Amino acid sequence: MVKKAAFYTLGCKVNQVDTEEIKEDFLRRGYQEVGFNEVADVYVINTCTVTHVSDKKARAVIRRASRRNPLATIVVTGCLAQAAPQQIEAIPGVSLVVDNRSKNSIPQLIEGSISKADAANNETIQPVLYSHRHERTRAFIKIQDGCHSFCSYCIVPYTRGAVRSKKPEHVKDELGRLVELGYREIVLTGIHSGLYGYDLRDIDLAGLLKYLLQQVRGDYRLRLSSIEPLEVTPVLLELAASHDRICRHFHIPLQSGSNAVLKAMNRRYDRDYYGELILDISRRIPGVGLSADVMVGFPGERDADFQDTYDLLKQLPMLDLHVFKYSRRDGTPAALMPGQVAEEIKQQRSQVLLELAISKRAEAVQKQQGQVIEVLVEQQAGSHTYSGLSDNYITVKWESPEDLRGELVPVRISGQEQGVALGSLQP
Ligand code: SF4
Repeated sequence: MVKKAAFYTLGCKVNQVDTEEIKEDFLRRGYQEVGFNEVADVYVINTCTVTHVSDKKARAVIRRASRRNPLATIVVTGCLAQAAPQQIEAIPGVSLVVDNRSKNSIPQLIEGSISKADAANNETIQPVLYSHRHERTRAFIKIQDGCHSFCSYCIVPYTRGAVRSKKPEHVKDELGRLVELGYREIVLTGIHSGLYGYDLRDIDLAGLLKYLLQQVRGDYRLRLSSIEPLEVTPVLLELAASHDRICRHFHIPLQSGSNAVLKAMNRRYDRDYYGELILDISRRIPGVGLSADVMVGFPGERDADFQDTYDLLKQLPMLDLHVFKYSRRDGTPAALMPGQVAEEIKQQRSQVLLELAISKRAEAVQKQQGQVIEVLVEQQAGSHTYSGLSDNYITVKWESPEDLRGELVPVRISGQEQGVALGSLQP
């Protein structure tokens, strides 16, 4: 009988790609994928431990799988499994805890055809040549894993380890395969993408992009995931400005607009550097969509520090803000810092930035009036209404008799509704 496997992912895009890769491995071995709420023989839960909330969610998902089929093999992997393996092993129903390095050997570990020690020795990131299209309209390629920046609040360098980059020819093969499968937008993602090539030595992120654009032909566009401020190089900007195939979108984490807080976070730039970088990008790439991660409530963040963050973001041409409340992670330097901020203050500051984000988005979308932008058709939002994401990271809606989901289409922007651009399909 065909065995059934179900998958659940928590956390970042890289974790989502990791799950797709694990899934592909199961499918190749003859498993059938079923929904997570169905009865399966194997449940794979790919966890995150960036905040307390992610830890809590992971535990709830494990219990859900165990209730669904108490006889199933429940495999828990990802950053929480890496950071607290004993705690996870102790949860009733858990069969196997797999660290991040061994994630690519889960079916073999279940079968017992590879030992845990051998699986953990897998230092390289292997290419994944997908056999079929997954449900999403957008595809992802993990180009690197690991981080050695050790921001003082972040657990990731401890759970993901040193920087490992996928070889350029493997990224090229994966991209070629995804374009053949019909994906029109492919996101290059990583735990710290700007460090791509650090371990390969003769290539960096801009070099990889150049190589891919030369080698892989077809109707597709590339989107870069988050890039740290110090890694947005002039060569990278020049490439993005001169190639239509690179989405006009940069997600550049700010975290704080206070120099004192940035220093305590072990972030190696200051507010002026960040501000000038954002203005430089918007001058070089007309219509560019700029988004940022911002953290509130880092230990020692005073009202004046928060005000610095607010003032900086207010004056910059940001399209989107991803606002996070600092979450104390054992084992990081910030967990031991004095001046931990009360939850209600974090909540208030977060609310203020979320409101700022709404007005910044409306302002940025307003500037697109009259422009024709390229949109990846993603969803049917009504009987003849479709929506999708533009190359410059704007959600766009339009009426059309045709269902063009998965395709890139030109849309002229004529208005907006709460930060969502409204437009009409162009011939
Ligand atoms: S750059 Fe900083 S925040 Fe990002 S993964 Fe590395 S340590 Fe964490």
